Amino acid sequence: MVIELINTGSELMLGRVLNTHQQWLCRRLADLGHSVARQVAVPDTGADIQSAVREALGRADLVITTGGLGPTSDDLTRDFIAQLLGRKLHEDAAALGHVEEFFTKRNRPMPASTRVQALVPEGARVLMNAHGTAPGLVIETAPNPFRTGGTTSRLVMLPGPPRELHPMFTEQVVPLLREWFPSESAFLCRTLRTTGLGESWVEEKVAGPLKYLTDAGLEIGYCARIGEVDVRLAARGCGAQEDVAEGERIVRSAMGDYVYGTDDESLEQVLIRLLTERKQTLALAESCTGGYVAHRITNVPGASAVLLAGLVTYSNEAKQSFLGVKPETLAIHGAVSEPVARAMAEGARARNRADYALAVTGIAGPSGGNESKPVGTVFIALASARETLVLRRINRYDRETFKFVTSQQALELLRRNALNLPLPD
Ligand code: ATP
Repeated sequence: MVIELINTGSELMLGRVLNTHQQWLCRRLADLGHSVARQVAVPDTGADIQSAVREALGRADLVITTGGLGPTSDDLTRDFIAQLLGRKLHEDAAALGHVEEFFTKRNRPMPASTRVQALVPEGARVLMNAHGTAPGLVIETAPNPFRTGGTTSRLVMLPGPPRELHPMFTEQVVPLLREWFPSESAFLCRTLRTTGLGESWVEEKVAGPLKYLTDAGLEIGYCARIGEVDVRLAARGCGAQEDVAEGERIVRSAMGDYVYGTDDESLEQVLIRLLTERKQTLALAESCTGGYVAHRITNVPGASAVLLAGLVTYSNEAKQSFLGVKPETLAIHGAVSEPVARAMAEGARARNRADYALAVTGIAGPSGGNESKPVGTVFIALASARETLVLRRINRYDRETFKFVTSQQALELLRRNALNLPLPD
């Protein structure tokens, strides 16, 4: 089965928007056992969209387009494709009802221009947009006029905004894929998420033990990002379930507690789940990460059951007044020091009556370091009823990466401590 992806939007070609649909859709499709044969991004012009769709339909069983379904004058994907396929547009009553309801529910007048979103090419199926007004569209070309042999091809048009596209794909397109391509469904994929070891170490640990399974057809892939490495296991066919399960068992036994989660679960999701189950609470005191740990925690739905407070105490005065760090501790050891990190975590924990408190203080750079505390030095403290632990790390990165890496180390410190796992070196 050949799939091609066409991302439309002049903003993509101007570098104003990062083409996250390419990554997101390819990833989703790969998790379902489909690979994208070709992907192209094109501006919003008729000539570009039509030639991209014509060429893709000449090769593919399934063509997915994104963007250009909205109400503005540059949203013409629907019109250009209808014209290319020689299909008239008609107003679809259900699609119009959905657009009208969208505005009524929000108590807002409906701009006349939004009505165009109810226009649907002849014979197209409408995918309702639960998070916006532009419906998605599915057209089956049987026979496909651009492909020799004229076999059936499918064209799926999805809206541009990610918050509209993601649920529409998951809830409405995935069931269609299963219906259209049932034989490709016997595919299983499992991702084991690890933190704390680099990519080469991960491969060194797992590749040998997995060899007999990979020789027999199990696919293994590594995806390294800053602070994390994913190990992806995939298999197709009747033994897929057993092979993937056996692969998972081997990876878990080789990687031990470096595995923090599976599939799309993030480290912060794992933590929130763990602390929620235990009815435990968390407070944060951040300096150099500027609230980044709190940002990651609050991205998780249900974080309010766990997070009591997140303070960004950047100045010495703030560390004293909000966390009770003593002026002499700051004067003797400096703001970036083990005793100050410890005092920040203990202050945050006591003042918020939390079970745990994480604190970070460090030198993000590019200036501010010295010989004993070079740029990138960071102290990460975790206070609990049992003890206060402090890690010293040197994270030499640009400021944003520094924040991410430091937040990862802080969250991992909490995960390991909460699960009674050994601390990282
Ligand atoms: P609407 O006009 O109703 O918002 P649409 O289907 O016409 O929806 P576009 O106008 O093409 O969508 O895109 C809307 C917004 O969605 C863009 O401004 C951009 O922020 C985001 N977007 C579009 N395409 C992509 C993409 N490939 N990757 C990431 N974001 C995208």
